[in-house]
Amino acid sequence: MLFRTLILKLAQSEALMNFIAHMGRRSGLAGRFVAGESIEEAMPVVQELNDKGIVTSLNLLGEEVSDKNEAERSTQSYISLLKAIHENRVESNVSIKLTQLGLGIHRQVCEKHLRAILDTARALNNFVRIDMEGSRYTQDILDLFQQTFSLYPNHVGVVIQAYLYRSEEDVRQLSPLGCNIRLCKGAYMEPADIAFPKRQDVDRNFIKLLELLLLSPSYTAIATHNVSMIEHAHRFTAQHDVPLSHYEYQMVYGVGREYQNQIIRRGNKMRVYVPFGTHWAPYLVRRLAERPANLLFLLKSLFRS
Ligand SMILES: Cc1cc2nc3c(=O)[nH]c(=O)nc-3n(C[C@H](O)[C@H](O)[C@H](O)COP(=O)(O)OP(=O)(O)OC[C@H]3O[C@@H](n4cnc5c(N)ncnc54)[C@H](O)[C@@H]3O)c2cc1C
Repeated sequence: MLFRTLILKLAQSEALMNFIAHMGRRSGLAGRFVAGESIEEAMPVVQELNDKGIVTSLNLLGEEVSDKNEAERSTQSYISLLKAIHENRVESNVSIKLTQLGLGIHRQVCEKHLRAILDTARALNNFVRIDMEGSRYTQDILDLFQQTFSLYPNHVGVVIQAYLYRSEEDVRQLSPLGCNIRLCKGAYMEPADIAFPKRQDVDRNFIKLLELLLLSPSYTAIATHNVSMIEHAHRFTAQHDVPLSHYEYQMVYGVGREYQNQIIRRGNKMRVYVPFGTHWAPYLVRRLAERPANLLFLLKSLFRS
């Protein structure tokens, strides 16, 4: 937890971010977690995963935008991405960050863009997952989700982060609606007055929320690489006869590849979150924060060069 906090703090330095981007490219670590810089580069990666029986969720990498034109550009890119998925006949939906669509500028700007993307998703019979971001946006994201869920019930889903104290209440409110919820631990740096500071408490809450979701009318996307969480879900779904059509497992591209195959062999649905795009350095930093070994790999390549 301390290592993760330290890396996320250091990531606020632009110089360090540029250095990590440089080293990430040089060491090949970026290629392990990011499926190229363009839609054209990402499509064969998705096809290869589909060939193994894995479905995907494509994410166009980017952080918060503060300019309306940039938000408009991100929106058009997501519309193009949905069309490319359709044209290439790959099995993938998309995951988006609302701050990329202008949530930080104005909620109405963001809603307009989200609806444009959802219109395309509905026309192409696809699905849009709204990723969850830092806690200053949690309420806005959940509000926008609920608003759009009533209009596009089969085409939009949201994410709940187990590290937030508020998440149990959010799950109790959302899950009876029969929506599509991804449960993850949470990847941002949050203060102790709103998020569990200890890893064991986050894990305990993850299990609690997982069980609530699996027994609810909602569809659950179990997003974790943690073996004990996954094995718990496996036992719990068997004990409670939760149908296979009611949930799926999710992992990020480049992590737990062997385990993903094992999950498929058990007959479960496995979706891999596949990020791509030119703006990959902050994403790489979050992946480094989750595993010290990745950072060591990066540092070793520095001394080799
Ligand atoms: C599909 C998916 C979608 C997500 N969406 C969101 C979101 O919308 N919002 C949000 O805040 N967070 C999101 N996350 C991130 C999540 O909140 C956690 O930060 C992250 O998944 C680490 O927690 P864990 O439960 O997977 O594993 P941990 O319990 O932290 O780790 C379990 C094991 O997996 C290994 N591991 C974990 N990450 C890596 C890695 N990068 N490289 C190598 N090994 C690794 C660990 O070393 C450990 O051995 C998402 C995660 C996934 C898998």
